[in-house]
Amino acid sequence: MPVTTVSACLPVLGAEVRAPLDTGEDVPYAALDYAASAPALRAVWDEVAAFLPSYGSVHRGAGYLSRLSTELFEESRATVAAFLGCRPDDALIFTRSTTDSLNLLAGALPEGCQVFVFATEHHAALLPWDRHGRAAVTCLPAPSTPEQAVAILRAALAQAAPGPKLLCVTGASNVTGELWPVADLAATARSFGARTVLDAAQLAPHRPVDIAALGVDWVALSGHKLYAPFGAGVLAGRADWLSPAEPYLAGGGASAVVSASPDAGVEVTWHTAPEVRHEAGSPNVVGAYALAAACRALDAAGFPALVAREERLLASLLTGLAETPGVRVLWLFGQDAPRVGVVSFVVAGWESGALARALSDRYGIGVRDGLFCAHPLVQALLGDRAEDGDGDCDGPLKAVRASFGAGTPDEHIERLVRAVRELAAAGPPD
Ligand code: PMP
Repeated sequence: MPVTTVSACLPVLGAEVRAPLDTGEDVPYAALDYAASAPALRAVWDEVAAFLPSYGSVHRGAGYLSRLSTELFEESRATVAAFLGCRPDDALIFTRSTTDSLNLLAGALPEGCQVFVFATEHHAALLPWDRHGRAAVTCLPAPSTPEQAVAILRAALAQAAPGPKLLCVTGASNVTGELWPVADLAATARSFGARTVLDAAQLAPHRPVDIAALGVDWVALSGHKLYAPFGAGVLAGRADWLSPAEPYLAGGGASAVVSASPDAGVEVTWHTAPEVRHEAGSPNVVGAYALAAACRALDAAGFPALVAREERLLASLLTGLAETPGVRVLWLFGQDAPRVGVVSFVVAGWESGALARALSDRYGIGVRDGLFCAHPLVQALLGDRAEDGDGDCDGPLKAVRASFGAGTPDEHIERLVRAVRELAAAGPPD
């Protein structure tokens, strides 16, 4: 079946922003840091602006706007759950972000849980698991192919002691953009009685995420990477570990019955439904509404068309970088491995911070430089840099990351390729 193509990018806020150059001129800003935070879709902003006059306290008041906001908040939950292909009995908790969601799940692990994570993960997926003293973490080595990732997991699970187990895996790397074999990993985990949480922070903005079809138990994502920068994230999935867990925050809403007296002290009975128990305090209804609006906008545009357009831009970026002497693109699974619009690279002779600064000051292009909160992965990928002739730069080993998405016009990618070509040829300033 032919894929419909979206020839133009989706409208986003900030498209008219002009960036000052060091010449004193200014140019249209090229936002190529979507993997950190994507701009708001115009459709999201329009929906949020239309909603705000109806804003009222959620789950708290009997007044009209309070009831309306509560209804829209719960409708937003249902919209996001449908977007993620949730099963009927899955819970969906609004959080602040992917980091928040994974920390919430870490606090809900059963006693003695063994958590398996690849060393290549973002720190948000690497760090939360053993903080509560109930889980032990097994760090799996970096695979060099998707098939090897599955084999590594299988070998580790085969040796694991009986008891609850969890695999935490990313859908798309925030460093290389490469897609991970999530369905195969989840099936392998399941065959050993282990559960899977998918870190979809980078996957969800670029590909459909279907919890049931992927066979994962939970999904975590961030609204600010999904064109909805209003402070909401999501943890969606199985309710059974979440219902008995310590409430993520103690406070109003999560508590069903509270008594307090000087004699008996403070006593509380918590709600058991995960979305009540773990959403104490006044919920971020604007963030939840914005996330739902983003889901509607992406569904309306259609992922097949969005993906086709992104792949075209990705191909032109990768070709342009490959044709530029001195540029090395980072990858784990291979040069041609499927990936989303996230590309990290180094340029011979350039310290990455200086290169990112030059892209901004001379071309009005915003990218990120550094280790991208995935220190083990970036350090492993850059480790052989000195040996392959790229070691003649000063400063710590870091990379530059360009990332884009549904709001990126062709011109931004063309400008980046031209800029990298010119800067690589010119070398860094003395
Ligand atoms: N996982 C991945 C793969 C990410 O790219 C990020 C953000 N860079 C996170 C988790 C954490 O997301 P947040 O900062 O929104 O919590």
